[in-house]
Formats: sequence, C-alpha cells, structure tokens
Amino acid sequence: MNFHEYQAKQLFADYGIAVPVGRVARTPEEAVEAAKAIPGDLWVVKAQIHAGGRGKAGGVKLARSLDEVKQYATAMLGTRMATYQTAGVALPIDCVLISEGTDIAKELYLSVLTDRSTKTITFIASAEGGVEIEKVAAENPDAIKSLHVNYVEGLQPYQCRQIGFALGLNPKQVNQLTKIMLGLFKLFNEKDLALVELNPLAILKSGDLAVLDGKINSDDNAAFRHPELVAMRDVRQEDETEVLASEHDLNYVTMDVISLNGGKPANFLDVGGGANKERVTEAFKLILRDPDVKAIFVNIFGGIVRCDMIAEGIIAAVKEVHVNVPVVVRLEGTNVEKGKELLKNSGLAITPADDINDGAKKVVAAAKG
Ligand code: GDP
Ligand code: MG
Repeated sequence: MNFHEYQAKQLFADYGIAVPVGRVARTPEEAVEAAKAIPGDLWVVKAQIHAGGRGKAGGVKLARSLDEVKQYATAMLGTRMATYQTAGVALPIDCVLISEGTDIAKELYLSVLTDRSTKTITFIASAEGGVEIEKVAAENPDAIKSLHVNYVEGLQPYQCRQIGFALGLNPKQVNQLTKIMLGLFKLFNEKDLALVELNPLAILKSGDLAVLDGKINSDDNAAFRHPELVAMRDVRQEDETEVLASEHDLNYVTMDVISLNGGKPANFLDVGGGANKERVTEAFKLILRDPDVKAIFVNIFGGIVRCDMIAEGIIAAVKEVHVNVPVVVRLEGTNVEKGKELLKNSGLAITPADDINDGAKKVVAAAKG
C-alpha cells in the first residue's frame, strides 16, 4: 500500500523525526487558512498523489503570498496529474499539502527498504538528491552509499554517523541524520514497511537538515496487523481493477512474464493459496475487464492449492463468464492428474500445457493466431 506525502510526514513526526510545518487542504479556501496558520511568508503548495515526479509536472509550487497559495491550490485541486512515475495514468488531486517554505542549499537522498539479495533492511543514501536514484546509480554509482543493517544488532548510531560523514555532513548535521535514521528504522520495523524514501532530504541554508518529501510503501501481507495504516488508504489513487481484486482477496498486478516468448502480458493475477471456484470465477471476470486481453494463461504450480479444485474453478468460470479468448492451462502439484482429467473431459476449448515455457509459447501463439 502507498501513502500520501502528508501521511508519510505524519508517521515521521510520530517517530520523532522533525518535518516542516504543514497542513492539508481540500479547497482553495482551506489552503489559504492553512497558510495563515503557518508562520513565515513562503509556502510550498504540493499536490497529493501517489507518485513522485510532481515537481517536474507542476505539482510543487513555491508561493510568496496568500494570493499565490490560493492560485496554485485552485489550479491543482480537482484536476488530475500524470508524472513520469504514473505510467501514463493521471491521478486525481483531491488535496494539497501546504507546507512551510524553506531555502535549500543542497538536496540529499535517503531511503530504507528490504533488500532481497542480502535479506537485510538496507539504507541507501546519496549526496545527489532531488533526482531519480536510478539515474544516480547508472551515472555515478560511487555517489551511492548503502548500509545493510545487521539482523541481530539492529541499526547502530555509529553506522548512521559513518553514512553522515560519507555524505559530507558536518557534525551537527550528522547528529540530525542519526536521529532521522534511527527514527526511520523503528518506524520501518514497527509498521512493517517495504520502502521509505526521503527525496529530497535537504540541507537548508540555515545548515539544518529538513525532510522535504516522504514516500512510504507498506507490506500488504502485514496489513492485518495495522488497521491504523489501512485507515489511511486512499483507493482513489489506486488502479480500479486492483481495488476490485483486493475486495475478493485476489492479487491483480500488471507485470511482465510472457515477453520472453515474444508476447506482451496485459496483467498478472495471483489467485493465492485459498483459491476456490468462486474466486477463480472472479479472477476470470477481472482479467476479462481488460479489452486488450487476447488469451489467458493459467499457470498453477500447486502446493497449497489443489489442482482438481483449480480445474473445477476454471471449468465453472469458463462456463459462467463468457470467456471468448483462448485459455491455456498448466497444472502441477497436488491432484494434478485428477485436474488434467477434469479439464480434458470438460468439452471446453482449453489447451493443456506441460510446463511454464510450453504454456507461455502456446498462449503467445494463441494470442497471435
Ligand atoms: P516530487 O517531485 O514529487 O518528488 O516532489 P518533492 O516534494 O520532492 O518536490 C520536488 C522539488 O521541489 C524538490 O526536489 C525541491 O527542489 C522542491 N521543493 C520541495 N519542497 C520545497 C521547499 O520547502 N522549499 C523549496 N525551496 N523547494 C522545495
Ligand atoms: Mg521527491
């Protein structure tokens, strides 16, 4: 699950991390009221959408008067915004964050994530912030410092100081960074997060560090123990089909699987461990919502799921839902023979596949045919 910047900053504050004074507004009038309540005469008006890249898309504006605050808020609220991170989709701007304006001397990058290759919680820091970290990684990999946190010891203050000095910070800034990193580590663990990104973590002209942007992604598998996070969910920022899928405990993801065999996957749906006939039927309905789907490849590598049950589900689904595209099925696992038998005897145009490659080949051929 993704969070808005204002929600991320609230969580940071809950964990003792200083954030710029800010307020959320849903109307231009509220935006002006918010700015009035924030000391100073420089404000930042920030579109709240589940994506970065807002700055370049016109979603981050420095306002030097209350009139400008109103003007920018009016221009953003109620519109939709696409950025290089939204994959061609424009997300609704339902609220803006009015934040205290700051004078930036330098922008840094700091993130925490679970690194699958080392199986550790890892901090990534760079003195080149404000830009895409992927770009820094490609063009100037030496600028990126990473810290794999020891599973048993946890994050140690000296490690934070090492990162700080590697970033070229002065002792006061190093202390501020240490506080931020320790707070983030606690937040990351206690809330079962998958990614926290501060980009930029700024060095202000005053010399202080400031958390100017925050992005959080939490682990959906742990959502059940964080009702307080689920309460922050904003489904209007999410893909409609994915939201529908989650209502049926299905996991619908757009991703790449078939391309190796020359095809192009329209989407990916994980039926999960507890698949039954009803859920498989819902799964087919969801997949077929996409008019670009030319063929369906069902790949079951059973473990928990029984192949005969999946087969029954597929048969019921193909009968109930009007499946007018070729269906290729690869079954492997518990009761596989029974499952294959059921499919064969169903009288339906279902193509069996021996393994995942055979299935991918057949489904690409069927989609092109
Ligand atoms: P993003 O483009 O969606 O990642 O949004 P950010 O919150 O990171 O803002 C984009 C850029 O706007 C930052 O990299 C900063 O350069 C600038 N910015 C954001 N907040 C402030 C601020 O308080 N003061 C100033 N001067 N610039 C800011
Ligand atoms: Mg940013």
